Amino acid sequence: MPTENDGVMIILSSPSGAGKTTLVSLLSNLKNFEISISHTTRQPRHNEINEKDYYFITEENFKRLIKNEEFLEYAKVFNNYYGTTRTPVIDKLNKGKNVLFDIDWQGADQIKNKKLDYKLITFFILPPSKEVLYERLSNRDMRDKLIVEERMKQFSRDVLHWINYDYVVINDDLEKCYSKIYDLIKAEINNGSKDYDSQYIRNHIEKLTS
Ligand code: 5GP
Repeated sequence: MPTENDGVMIILSSPSGAGKTTLVSLLSNLKNFEISISHTTRQPRHNEINEKDYYFITEENFKRLIKNEEFLEYAKVFNNYYGTTRTPVIDKLNKGKNVLFDIDWQGADQIKNKKLDYKLITFFILPPSKEVLYERLSNRDMRDKLIVEERMKQFSRDVLHWINYDYVVINDDLEKCYSKIYDLIKAEINNGSKDYDSQYIRNHIEKLTS
């Protein structure tokens, strides 16, 4: 049974290349914060470690987890399956840990719609401009220009989901972006006042989508 001492759920989503994974990792250093490790059918990247970055599993095993209703949410992203299993998340929350989710908008929607008894705070992270995003994507492990172009197109579609999040934060400077998210989480948990300029965010999104 959820109680006041339970942890809160914090979702960070973003179009590819906005720097969300780094932010989640920084937030996980805070006392009492833990990352929810997802399952995926994607192949590991060269620097990724099984059971730390993801549980890398086969499509067959993923489908078995779906069938056994073990997922709190799951989605297909870029031709691979990704999902969050329910039990580890609920265990952490019941122990008072705040759980960080690095998941896409489809997963965020599913968790929101579940209306669990735990407090939920959702963040959508955006790049400062399309130019910066293009640069970031080009510098990744995806040297292929076609893939970068494809992710830019995907960006235009993904950005539209900002509207379903509690907060949109622009990642122009990692430190500042981190502090912004940290302050908002603190304010949410303590029912404090929130420093959030929604008009500024609307203007930024207009620029990104024009
Ligand atoms: P990547 O393959 O770059 O690690 O992740 C691709 C996308 O899948 C990212 O937007 C990431 O947030 C999302 N993702 C990672 N794990 C999950 C998950 O468990 N569920 C959902 N819905 N999305 C996820």
